[in-house]
Amino acid sequence: MSQKYKTGRHLLQIPGPTNVPDRILRAMDYPTIDHRGEEFFSLAKKCLTGIKDIFKTESNVIIYPASGTGAWEAALVNTLSPGDTVLMIETGHFASLWVKLAKRLGINSELIETNWRRGADAEKIAERLLLDKTGEIKAVCIVHNETSTGAMSDVFKVRKCIDHVGHNALLMVDTISSLASSEYCHDDWGVDVTVSGSQKGLMLPPGLSFNAISKKALAAYKRATMPRSYWDWREHIEANSTGSFPYTPATNMLFGLNEAILMLKEEGLENVFARHKRYAEATRLAVQTWGLEVLCENENDFSNTLTAVLLPDGHNADEFRSIVLDNFNMSLGNGLSRLAGKVFRIGHLGDFNDLMLIATLGGIEMGLSKSSVPHQVGGTQAAMQFLKQN
Ligand SMILES: *Cc1c(COP(=O)(O)O)cnc(C)c1O
Repeated sequence: MSQKYKTGRHLLQIPGPTNVPDRILRAMDYPTIDHRGEEFFSLAKKCLTGIKDIFKTESNVIIYPASGTGAWEAALVNTLSPGDTVLMIETGHFASLWVKLAKRLGINSELIETNWRRGADAEKIAERLLLDKTGEIKAVCIVHNETSTGAMSDVFKVRKCIDHVGHNALLMVDTISSLASSEYCHDDWGVDVTVSGSQKGLMLPPGLSFNAISKKALAAYKRATMPRSYWDWREHIEANSTGSFPYTPATNMLFGLNEAILMLKEEGLENVFARHKRYAEATRLAVQTWGLEVLCENENDFSNTLTAVLLPDGHNADEFRSIVLDNFNMSLGNGLSRLAGKVFRIGHLGDFNDLMLIATLGGIEMGLSKSSVPHQVGGTQAAMQFLKQN
């Protein structure tokens, strides 16, 4: 039943980019203004101040016209020198891409591997740092919410472990799929550089990314000798003080960012986090009722923003996803690199409500049946029951 024109709304239930709410689309639907004029400066100041509340920081947040990957690069080139060693925890596909990027920059990245089914192990990080008596390791890099596996890492615990062993490494955290959807505190958790992007919890289209910076990271910036130009923090910090940018900013994305910040504040960040947690619980309950397996194997590490689901052996997750897309006009996330064909990922983040979750789960349940994946019916029903009671 494949047809060219698909009626109704497309459900974009990949774990980012997420569904962009109409209110943000409308806020962006304006002629681009002069980025060297007063109207722009006042918009930029609102964005630069407002975004600090989302990262929960008093320090500078840099806004780049780039995807999240650009902000990864920015974090490294602003704080490190060629040949420096960093400790990276390979929790999944996105963590491994960050490792690859660091290597290309000439950074010596040392890996702690995982089975791609859990978050970073803070104790293992502490053990490694304890052996580093001469302070070779300049930074610890972790992905807060590993979007390829649906496993979260306890960032604050990692910070406490680094401090406990008395190591001086910077802590850098990728929050691209957790900011504005899962609890996160740049200042209180002692993070030095937080990396994020626009297209997930912030409900914006792709195109902006961020570095939140601690005082310690700014001090590292002064010593760091990695070549940098486009990503240079100082150029931004100086320009931002008057509401300007060192080069043409993504003006219309900033209209959207300003609206997104207003919406998050109207809902209240604590309510935003509780909403995501509730949808994650309802989703796992549905998966469990279907008799399928959640990829994340440690319940303390369950992601609030997405769930990766393993299909039984002999069933291809990409075939399942294409059946769902063809029949129900819904996109689900694919399995990445070593998980290709083995899992599908349900994004339950961003501008999302009870009925969108039920539609998502209903589409999956009907898709499981159409693609003859062995399962028990009733997962959607179980989620509805949960939502009614909680
Ligand atoms: C989406 C995502 C990225 C990739 O960011 P781009 O915007 O595609 O460059 C990196 N890390 C995590 C955890 C992500 O979820």
